[in-house]
Amino acid sequence: MKAQNIAILGATGSIGASALDVIARHPERFRAWALTANRRVDALAALCAKYRPAWAGIADARLAPELERRLREAGVPTQVAAGAGGLAELAERAEVDTVIAAIVGAAGLRATLAAAAAGKKLLLANKEALVCAGPIFMDTVRRHRATLLPVDSEHNAVFQCLPASASGTLAQKGIRRIVLTASGGPFRRRARADLQRVTPDEACAHPNWSMGRKISVDSATMMNKGLEVIEAHWLFGAAPEQIEVVIHPQSVVHSMVEYADGSVIAQLGNPDMRTPIAQALAFPDRVEAGVEPLDLARIGQLGFEPPDLERFPALRLAYQALRAGGTAPAVLNAANEVAVAAFLDRRLSFLGMTGVIEETLGSTAVAPLATLEDVLAADAAARAHADQIVHRSYSNAA
Ligand code: NAD
Ligand code: MG
Repeated sequence: MKAQNIAILGATGSIGASALDVIARHPERFRAWALTANRRVDALAALCAKYRPAWAGIADARLAPELERRLREAGVPTQVAAGAGGLAELAERAEVDTVIAAIVGAAGLRATLAAAAAGKKLLLANKEALVCAGPIFMDTVRRHRATLLPVDSEHNAVFQCLPASASGTLAQKGIRRIVLTASGGPFRRRARADLQRVTPDEACAHPNWSMGRKISVDSATMMNKGLEVIEAHWLFGAAPEQIEVVIHPQSVVHSMVEYADGSVIAQLGNPDMRTPIAQALAFPDRVEAGVEPLDLARIGQLGFEPPDLERFPALRLAYQALRAGGTAPAVLNAANEVAVAAFLDRRLSFLGMTGVIEETLGSTAVAPLATLEDVLAADAAARAHADQIVHRSYSNAA
């Protein structure tokens, strides 16, 4: 068997680290062929020294000479690609079999879409790319016969619980609903009044998963689950009313599929992203991923409860954007990215985040989404709008 050449977009992040761990366990199957980062030259150079990829991509092109110098001095023969365009070109290269899209945010859209347009096997972690460009993304996958495999743990679980037959609507497959589980995040039990003063570090201390800071904040507001509802809509062709969210604090049941006959099929496992990454990398085979076996007797009890949309309105806003369609999910996502960055920067309170998103959504007319330019325009306008709201509330608070 020839090893798959893998390009990891976002190799220096949390998903990147999990993916490299799985890849290194199976050198006969997988080869890290290209690794990319945004600005962390040190971290990327260290990964290149360890994994010896053919290419390294640095999104901030000004840092390319620095990366080249580090690699040369360390005697690492990796070539360097620079800029957002350089990353997209790496994802398209003929030598690449598989692309792991693990950049955070809409910033990953261009390279992720390039991988789809090049017909690659595409492992999607970068949910924001699918949320903001849904119909264009899925159309690109279909037209260029890319193989899209979800790495987000919930969607990977759903994928594993679906029947093998690929075609047909959910109803034709006998599926009634998709049930996404959510841990509820670090503030599941906090009163709304207490949420006003929580800090970025508290928000990033997730009870079950260790992740990048942006998705950790999204998990604390439950916007992560909102983005995942939209992600499930596009991946599985599920209508909003066919997607349900249930809180499950142990993060052992990663999601479920409910069939017309009342059967509910769930995928279980320890909360470790190496499981969905290994499942997608090796699909349809199964490989060892370094994950602890699940010990249900030790865990003892699994709990489930409905989400509280009063304390966590982000989930409601995401359903609202999904139902509105067109550019609304791109606006939701862009406003959220601005709000999360401001919160992490201590320019916006925790509850202020959903305020910014709600106001941006409410004051933006929904337009049809036909081209990538429509997505980029909606994204830019929503960012500018959300920025203004943050600035206004910040000056009021100061
Ligand atoms: P992270 O912050 O740890 O890593 C982000 C990566 O993206 C880094 O390699 C960074 O260099 C790169 N990056 C950031 N901005 C960039 C830009 N403008 N251009 C190019 N590269 C850029 O994030 P993460 O937790 O690994 O999450 C990555 C994606 O995977 C997100 O979309 C997240 O929602 C999704 N995801 C993560 C997890 C998890 O457990 N961490 C689980 C499910 C889904
Ligand atoms: Mg998830």
